Amino acid sequence: MMEGARPPQLECPMWCVLCQGGQAWLQQVRRWAAEVLWLPTGSLGFRLPQLFDIHQVPRVYQEEGIISGYRHPRSSALDCVLSSFQMTNETVNIWTHFLATWYFLWRFSMLCGSLDFLSESYTWPLLVYMLLICLYPFTSSCAHTFSTMSPESRHICYFFDYGAISLYSLGCAITYGSYVMPDCWVNTWLHEYFVALAVGNTLVCTGLSCYSRLLEMEFPRKSKILRTAAFVYPFIFDNIPLFHRLLLCCGDSFSHNEASSSHCYHLIFAFLTCFLFTSHLPERLAPGHFDFIGHSHQLFHICAVVGTHFQMEALLADMTSRSAWLMVNTAVPSLLGTIGALVLGVLLNLGIIAVFSAALLRVPGRRPASHAVAAQGCPELKE
Ligand SMILES: [Zn+2]
Repeated sequence: MMEGARPPQLECPMWCVLCQGGQAWLQQVRRWAAEVLWLPTGSLGFRLPQLFDIHQVPRVYQEEGIISGYRHPRSSALDCVLSSFQMTNETVNIWTHFLATWYFLWRFSMLCGSLDFLSESYTWPLLVYMLLICLYPFTSSCAHTFSTMSPESRHICYFFDYGAISLYSLGCAITYGSYVMPDCWVNTWLHEYFVALAVGNTLVCTGLSCYSRLLEMEFPRKSKILRTAAFVYPFIFDNIPLFHRLLLCCGDSFSHNEASSSHCYHLIFAFLTCFLFTSHLPERLAPGHFDFIGHSHQLFHICAVVGTHFQMEALLADMTSRSAWLMVNTAVPSLLGTIGALVLGVLLNLGIIAVFSAALLRVPGRRPASHAVAAQGCPELKE
């Protein structure tokens, strides 16, 4: 290790408390990790960025129950990228969704080899869905990486994150409308307008979730309720056909097929995802113990990815097993109802993000009252 170089700051997590001897083992792991993480950067002539405690960063960066491991609130883009190789309170958030992106890309590439996405219109809903389940974890990973460049960049990063989640819900609606709709609802008005309503839902979802960021400091409870509602509402809408199929369409031929168990696993993980997002457990019960590993946002990311995996498996099973019946009883998916809806959704979401970003940047006096730096004992952070 280079002279003067310090290993990255790591807090002792809960494992120390859970098992005797765990602390010594953990210290050994920390030494190895510090050497692995520190030597290459040291030999390349730069140091990993310094980390801060909660009272040293502006309120906008502070997370409930997370005491340490904060990055500099005015990090450069390079520092943000470097910090993903350093143990901070965001590192696992970044990697859980970055690795998930590659997993879904790999699944997508396998499907490209077995399905004809170009000419077979029956596969277009799946094409849109696969694109969006690659997009949302990638956007999230980027948002977590670059969210400490400035308070404004933090808000804009998460505007994009919310936009990608909103588009993912649109992708769910397109596939559910095409492959999951119960037999008894096929060709009804709901089936006909399902995607159009879902496009409208993305406006509500992205608009509400972006707006909730502007309320975060002054009205944290209201902000949390609004943001949760913004994501729960399109989820419930998308899953109405599935709920009806699983709970009420017992007599239908495809109500309980091989996809049902995967659909149920997806719903369980979706519930867990929502619970973790709203509860801030476990770090709320033991502030400071889960700063680096095990806090609710990391578990939230993992549950979201596992849930999406089961959802993808369920959709593939439904798409395959119901293809003959759907081909006979419904119109094949149209370009307008699949790729067209995606393009419209992307444009509308970019428009909403542009409006909120412009409002944030152009009216400094109306920025969230969160940018004052506490900077106790850390003069370099004062703005
Ligand atoms: Zn996240």
